[in-house]
Amino acid sequence: MAGLDLTGKRAIVTGASSGIGRATAAALADAGVRVAGGARRVGRLESEIALELDVTAPASSERFVAKAVEQLGGLDILVNNAGLALGRAPFDESSEEDEATVFAVNVTGLVRMTRLCLPHFGDWGHIVNMGSVAGRQAYESGATYVSAKFAERGFTYALREDLLGRPIRITTVDPGLVETDFSLVRFKGDEEKASAVYRGVEAIQPDEIADCILFALTRPWHVNVDEIVVKARNQSSGGRILRDG
Ligand code: NAP
Repeated sequence: MAGLDLTGKRAIVTGASSGIGRATAAALADAGVRVAGGARRVGRLESEIALELDVTAPASSERFVAKAVEQLGGLDILVNNAGLALGRAPFDESSEEDEATVFAVNVTGLVRMTRLCLPHFGDWGHIVNMGSVAGRQAYESGATYVSAKFAERGFTYALREDLLGRPIRITTVDPGLVETDFSLVRFKGDEEKASAVYRGVEAIQPDEIADCILFALTRPWHVNVDEIVVKARNQSSGGRILRDG
């Protein structure tokens, strides 16, 4: 992809063990970026530096950032990608445990990782937060995930205000339907329900979201791509998807 040369930059990618995070870590490496990937399933990480990370746990997050920055020798890019939804049902079927997990990963975890990484940026930084179309337009039976992704977008813009004047760009990437393990996690391992999400519609592939992230990262240094919203062609919102048959 033409644009700013990322060779030699140093990146942290959270949730790099699967889906969008794994594709992003690979695309960054292809662009000459040194990548430290983090996730709980450390055995699934394929990045040059692979470290255990649970973004919901302060000690794990602190340990991860310290080790990653030490091994990278600094930090230029943070991709706050780790996230999940749990359940797809009207809100009165929600549970204390699922609510706590969804907010802990998507919101508190992302905020924590940003706070821990910020002191390590030098004179060239870029933070990419993984939002969702769910964070822009509510859809039915997704209340906690929708709220969490609205919070992510609010945080991104608040951070943009607080970082204004510092050499750190910030972008939220807000995808629609992407074919990953997201639905398998959302439906707690129910493969039938998970595969139905992608039936009869051509979903976005994880490397196509990685391309969007690379686009933002490679713009000329004076350009800040605030947000990228990308949906499947046959999708107009999180809740409206046209399917064949
Ligand atoms: P995925 O394939 O299930 O990947 C999710 C990643 O998040 C995994 O690597 C997982 O790693 C990591 N993760 C979950 N909990 C974590 C924790 N406590 N600590 C550290 N890492 C954790 O799903 P995906 O679609 O690629 O999701 C990536 C991001 O894209 C999420 O923020 C999601 O909300 C967003 N998104 C997805 C879609 C979609 O349609 N797929 C659409 C819009 C936005 P471990 O389980 O190994 O820890």
